[in-house]
Amino acid sequence: MLTNERTHIAIMPSPGAGHLTPLAELAKRLVRHPHDFSVTLIVVSIASSSPSSQHAYLNHLNSSTSIDVHQLPPADLSDLPDDVPPEPRFFLAVQRSLPNLRHSLATRSILPFSALIVDFFAIDAFAVTKELGIPGYLYFTSSCNNLCHMFYLPILHATTVCEYRDLEEPIRLPGCVPIMGKDFVEPLQDRKSTAYQIMIDLAKRYMEAEGVLVNTFEAMEPGPIKALEVPEPGRPPVYTIGPMVQTVGPVEDLSGSDCLRWLDQQPSESVLFVCFGSGGTLSREQLTELAFGLELSGQRFLWVVRSPAEKMSAALFAGGGGGGKEEDEPLDSLPEGFLERTRGWGLVVPSWAPQSQVLAHTSTGGFMSHCGWNSTLESVVNGVPLIAWPLYAEQKMNAVMLTEGAGIAIRAITGEDGLVGREEVVRVVKGLMEEGKEVKQRVKWLQVEGKKALGEGGSSYKALLDVTEMWRTPKKL
Ligand code: UDP
Repeated sequence: MLTNERTHIAIMPSPGAGHLTPLAELAKRLVRHPHDFSVTLIVVSIASSSPSSQHAYLNHLNSSTSIDVHQLPPADLSDLPDDVPPEPRFFLAVQRSLPNLRHSLATRSILPFSALIVDFFAIDAFAVTKELGIPGYLYFTSSCNNLCHMFYLPILHATTVCEYRDLEEPIRLPGCVPIMGKDFVEPLQDRKSTAYQIMIDLAKRYMEAEGVLVNTFEAMEPGPIKALEVPEPGRPPVYTIGPMVQTVGPVEDLSGSDCLRWLDQQPSESVLFVCFGSGGTLSREQLTELAFGLELSGQRFLWVVRSPAEKMSAALFAGGGGGGKEEDEPLDSLPEGFLERTRGWGLVVPSWAPQSQVLAHTSTGGFMSHCGWNSTLESVVNGVPLIAWPLYAEQKMNAVMLTEGAGIAIRAITGEDGLVGREEVVRVVKGLMEEGKEVKQRVKWLQVEGKKALGEGGSSYKALLDVTEMWRTPKKL
């Protein structure tokens, strides 16, 4: 039960494991020393798409920490056409949950708080902070490189007329890795769509935040972080507080033991971990190419296989419990004889693996990843280099940043047929596991720097202290 003795902060992520987890990790940090806040995590979900792993995670948070978890009734999005992308869905879920948030505040099932922290699709909740006269902060759970592009988006919108994918030159922002328009998130690829308009509105509304916290750290992206230190009228101050990654949760404890035991039997840094986030799925053809590529590479691997889906992000709403349809058996989609031929040196896990524990295991030497930001940071804090295989959301931008900026990944190249062919899989797997000396050294260095940033006196430690100090004595808006 919350008391009013400590400053009370509310944190509200938009739906999806990739948003909930980093905001919950921030909550865990804020209730501990030296911050000692009381924290309510306000959970927004979408009706009929809340995975069982999320329930387990929230129950675990509620029972094992002092964080108060308040679940708003799931938002009904059943009126939306199937082809509406995830980003506007997250935004609309939050928008439609605001009446319930107001009700919870009015009935005091959520106690008054001094500041509200939201993630990038939950920014509509600033309407409520304005009504309450308290500050609203944005927690940007992606890179500073991406944040710079979001700040710039309204200008790009106003100064161009063509689709971004048709821009011949990359967007070059101070300190940032140049990004081609075709690598922007899917909703930005069609200027006439509602999703596009929502993204532009979101980007404009970033300016309403009192401050922006970013889950990154100086050594990872010195260029964009420096660029954001230069004040710009109307732009909120930026605090880099990462790398904050998921600590072990109950889902892992239940499901993970087999693959961790298998890893125990493998030589040090010999295994490539293959996993495409909480929702990433491949097409049937792509799954087949990947399987043959892994087999041909002869490299030890641990692969989280999802049932194929024609659309890369189609499984996102199946969420943390795995992609594809729940009733599908993912392993049935693998080429005939694959499991037998790779037995002993390859392990396939259906749908879900305890990723943070796998990456922390000494046998893991590489990570073929969709480059979701949480996966990226989990790799960095464990000193594991990556093969960048972006699928959806801002992952193409992350892939560019990780290969050309941070220098900790090798990019898998998609062929003209839209597939990463088996030969390309062999190239990147061997390139990383056998030859990737530079990326390995670089990620080990970043691992050390990330630890320093979070440690007492480190840049991220100090930035979090700076911003939390303002929550204790908030200015009345
Ligand atoms: N994850 C996991 N096991 C899996 C797949 C994903 O534990 O089999 C976790 C992973 O550790 C990370 C999160 O799910 O914390 C995925 O977040 P990310 O931002 O990388 O990608 P998203 O799922 O949002 O696309």
